[in-house]
Amino acid sequence: MDADVIIIGSGMGGATLAASLAPTGRRILILERGERLQPSAQDRDPNAIFGEGTFRPNETWLDGTDKPFNPGNYYYVGGNSKIYGAVLIRYRAEDFEPIEHFGGSTPGWPISYADLETDYQAAEDLYAVRGTITEDPTEPPHSGGYAHQPVPDEPDITELRHRLKRAGLTPCSLPLGVDIDEWLDGGQTTWDAFPNTGEGKMDAETGGLKAALRHDNVKLKTGCRVASLKTDTDGKISAVICETTNGTETLRAPIVVLAAGAVQSAALLLASANEGNPNGLANSSDQVGRNFMNHNCSAVLAMHPLRKNRSVYQKTLMVNDFYLKDGNKPPLGNIQMLGKITGSILAASSKLPKPLANLIAARSFDFYAMSEDLPNPESRVTLKDGLIKLDWQRSNWEAHERLVKELKRKLKAAGFPIVLSQPFDRRTPSHQCGTARMGDDPTSSVVDSFCRSHDHENLFIVDASVLPTSAAVNPALTIAALALRAGRHMTETEFVS
Ligand SMILES: Cc1cc2nc3c(=O)[nH]c(=O)nc-3n(C[C@H](O)[C@H](O)[C@H](O)COP(=O)(O)OP(=O)(O)OC[C@H]3O[C@@H](n4cnc5c(N)ncnc54)[C@H](O)[C@@H]3O)c2cc1C
Repeated sequence: MDADVIIIGSGMGGATLAASLAPTGRRILILERGERLQPSAQDRDPNAIFGEGTFRPNETWLDGTDKPFNPGNYYYVGGNSKIYGAVLIRYRAEDFEPIEHFGGSTPGWPISYADLETDYQAAEDLYAVRGTITEDPTEPPHSGGYAHQPVPDEPDITELRHRLKRAGLTPCSLPLGVDIDEWLDGGQTTWDAFPNTGEGKMDAETGGLKAALRHDNVKLKTGCRVASLKTDTDGKISAVICETTNGTETLRAPIVVLAAGAVQSAALLLASANEGNPNGLANSSDQVGRNFMNHNCSAVLAMHPLRKNRSVYQKTLMVNDFYLKDGNKPPLGNIQMLGKITGSILAASSKLPKPLANLIAARSFDFYAMSEDLPNPESRVTLKDGLIKLDWQRSNWEAHERLVKELKRKLKAAGFPIVLSQPFDRRTPSHQCGTARMGDDPTSSVVDSFCRSHDHENLFIVDASVLPTSAAVNPALTIAALALRAGRHMTETEFVS
């Protein structure tokens, strides 16, 4: 055996699980297709990031109409969290229950919020989350507080907070994995969508992986793309087949954990189909690749011609006034600040001429409106001619339109006569999830509530694919909490000697 546990992928799920298992002393081998992001002149250059796509992968997927596109899915040590906005927020307690939405209903989870609470707490400690539990009426119960004060508002955001309050909203501090002084030492930019090559952002590499690699029993193998998994006659995963610069390698461990991200994990399971598992591994339920969700999101820019926004990072506020159902009215979603959009970012990511982009960005307060996407078996990842086909079928769009409309109304009341909005494009599956969902019933779900495959007893999946619902908050902290729960379960059931 090459290790006691092989973990495929060093992103939020894989790295957090490695941190959880490291103290057991078991030999943990993490296989990662990417390399470590190195500091470069481009990592704070908006033109390189948003215009030239320097950090995007050299990869093509097909959309639902078989049109090729270059996905914003990132393959580095630390995965998508290297680029993320570092909002580390808990699902609300209500998100674990069935909910009626404008576009249908969500099924509820096999576990309750209370079942995951201590893992949320541990994940917040591991990722040094900055926040407060006292401001947001939708905040679920915490057994402990945040260990760090929230990232401070910049002066123009403090003023915005007052304006939003006067307009009847309840702005509150975003929980963030950001050491703001450290981040700004690397350059005067926001962190949202910027690659992290230092220690300023608490991502899977600087958080979970760093903690795991302090233990000699944990090893990371980069440049190692897992191409398929093999099973033996009793249905266990018997081998992990990898492509490396040295060619094809076969690795083995008694426990194999898939954490390649919701799209890639599903693709790998489907690509591993064999005689005993003709629909792919872990797929007797036919749910692998299905129920793909990705949130409905829009950028909403609020402006007053005579008021400037001098913020550098901006991203410290959220509003959950429309998050829970209101009487009989279904929920609409979460609103949070985007990282500050500068003229260079706007010009690089749109067709606007730079002078106009500068004019807008100097005045705009930039919001991110996010609504729940509902599980739908026809929204799915499949393989076609060796390529990933992502047929994302958006749901619950009415809720999103209502959320954007409510936000615009409130922003006008808050003193912004000009409010523009633009839905996010479909090429960046930032909040991808759902493709190997968790459930108690093996006929309708892929893993159990400890992330163990119903079909293969030595296979676990600990990335975004196991989320049964997308809620309307950012997913990374929930992925981390589930990985810690799975790690605890493995330690208790597999490593008792
Ligand atoms: C621009 C952007 C902003 C975001 N902002 C936020 C935010 O503010 N808050 C939040 O909660 N979430 C945010 N997200 C989402 C968040 O980053 C993801 O939810 C999270 O990283 C998913 O974790 P994961 O473990 O499922 O997958 P990932 O973190 O993507 O990790 C998967 C890993 O597996 C590796 N891998 C893939 N295939 C293979 C293979 N075949 N063999 C070996 N290795 C493989 C990948 O290289 C990667 O390292 C953002 C995402 C993006 C793109």
